[in-house]
Amino acid sequence: REAAARAARSAASLRSPIVCIMGHVDTGKTKLLDKIRQTNVQEGEAGGITQQIGATFFAKETLKDKVAVLAQEAGLEVRLPGMLVIDTPGHESFTNLRSRGSSLCDIAILVIDLMHGLEPQTIESLNLLRSKRTPFVVALNKIDRCYGWKATADGSSRLSLQGQDGATREEFETRAARVRMELNERGLNAELYWKNEDPASTVSLVPTSAITGEGIPDLLLWITRLTQERLTEQIMFMPDLLECTVLEVKAVEGLGMTIDTIIVNGALRENDRIVVCTLDGPVVTSIRAVLTPPPSRELRIKSEYIHHKEIYGAMGVKICAQGIERAIAGTPIMVIGKDDNEDDIKEEVMKDFTNVMKMDLDTRGVIVQASTLGALEALMQFLRKECDPPIPVSSVNIGPIYRRDVMRASIMLEKGKPEYATILAFDVRIDADARAYAEEVGVRIFTADIIYHLFDQFTAFMANLMEQRRTDAQATAVFPCICKIMPQHVFNKKDPIIVGMEVIEGTLRVGTPLCIPALEGLPIGRVASIEDNHRQVQKLAKGGSGAVRIEDANGGSTLTYGRQFDATSGSLYSMISRPSIDALKANFRAEVSKDDLRLLVQLKKVFGIP
Ligand code: GDP
Repeated sequence: REAAARAARSAASLRSPIVCIMGHVDTGKTKLLDKIRQTNVQEGEAGGITQQIGATFFAKETLKDKVAVLAQEAGLEVRLPGMLVIDTPGHESFTNLRSRGSSLCDIAILVIDLMHGLEPQTIESLNLLRSKRTPFVVALNKIDRCYGWKATADGSSRLSLQGQDGATREEFETRAARVRMELNERGLNAELYWKNEDPASTVSLVPTSAITGEGIPDLLLWITRLTQERLTEQIMFMPDLLECTVLEVKAVEGLGMTIDTIIVNGALRENDRIVVCTLDGPVVTSIRAVLTPPPSRELRIKSEYIHHKEIYGAMGVKICAQGIERAIAGTPIMVIGKDDNEDDIKEEVMKDFTNVMKMDLDTRGVIVQASTLGALEALMQFLRKECDPPIPVSSVNIGPIYRRDVMRASIMLEKGKPEYATILAFDVRIDADARAYAEEVGVRIFTADIIYHLFDQFTAFMANLMEQRRTDAQATAVFPCICKIMPQHVFNKKDPIIVGMEVIEGTLRVGTPLCIPALEGLPIGRVASIEDNHRQVQKLAKGGSGAVRIEDANGGSTLTYGRQFDATSGSLYSMISRPSIDALKANFRAEVSKDDLRLLVQLKKVFGIP
């Protein structure tokens, strides 16, 4: 069987393209993937549809079968040896995986709900696809929800549309036009795939229904066409050039430690000597087994894997080898050939990791942890280059979060930066002990599998924190002010004191504590409210006057106007201290004027503050 596969391989010059599915939540990604995967071809055909590591593989014959309703009129000859569809729809970390510098995903299906048009994550996906220069088609999903839709199960959506009633077709046209316009607004030309005459510059819209299966032939046909006609260079099969990326390290009963990988191109063989990038540096090891899952679900018992002497990209495979426990997701695996220099290969394998890890970090900042190297890199890029203001990062790591990571984050508490005692975790598992420990010491862990969401969470948290700090500081911070009592306007002498006051210097604000330096700094109480011309105000500027109510902490007054003090006692000063000045400068800098600063200097002398 493997000899036959090899023969087929040498005849064809293309490898299977890797396809991934993206889009907003609830647009139907999972359902569409399920429907695409549904085996409606005879069992036992050369591979058929098989579940691989992290992906579903469609053999050439199956692909032909699936597009049969359309291929004839499209005149399409399937030249692809198959298609590998990634199983984790909408998984940004997958799209961030790279292989030799380019995205692992050859072509993407961006799912848009025909009823909803562009949604926030659609736009995020669009941005991601653009930044990676990944070609894509749009699945305009849920066409069956157009009123009066008459379904042809698993049929072509293009043909189905022709058979709809006028009103139904009209609804579809209107909604499709809206999506087209929304894409136009984002600078993208888009056209229904059968009207698309320039696939190089225009995105194709393929109407689909994940419920009826309509449009799936169209989708597969169009992807087949685009890849085998437009991406031939990228998907040229290179038997001697292995391109393989680590997805995940997994312990499997009976097999020991294994690495799940995607072979993008080239071949991998049993007993190959390979170099793997691990957290402890490059590891040279031999492949003990190359495995794929059994073809049918029923057979899927533990370690019932199929062994391969040799396997070709594109394929998802499991590799058994020694010394791979600490392999890093998103890094390449390379084979050491007869003529290769082992040290060169080691350096090559470690290159991406070294580049990401040697970036400069801040002494005070959050901890960033991601599932894969590519995701970590993308996240760092985002936090430092695209965030405004940039989020400082003090440490990075790849893989699940353990207690030691929380301990690293807690150092920020000691450094007096509790806001940075934070882990931004992108698509990683959090160990239960680590979570409990974080709670105990006060380290926050934000998790998300969309990069932008992490940023949103962190900025919301920071805004909240700043607001909280200002509120807290309000009690401590004191604006400088000098004022005097207007003796002709004494409304209440005690409980509380209400007197007319005029501001001589600075601003008098609600909350300001007042004292009389001339009476050895006798505290009078805090400003509880200010009335200016029968209106409640928060502050009085220099030269202003109003009725000021002064209370102590209990809402009354221990002093009585006319007994301990009166208008002849001298000016009232806002009562400042070192902490009040620090709180003012730390939290209200923008509101402190030059005059305020000058007055502060003056008051500091009065209160003997160095
Ligand atoms: P995901 O979050 O993008 O993976 O979306 P799901 O595949 O979970 O689908 C979300 C919801 O939309 C589910 O209730 C699906 O049954 C429904 N749905 C998905 N595709 C279609 C479709 O083509 N037509 C209709 N009517 N419903 C759909």
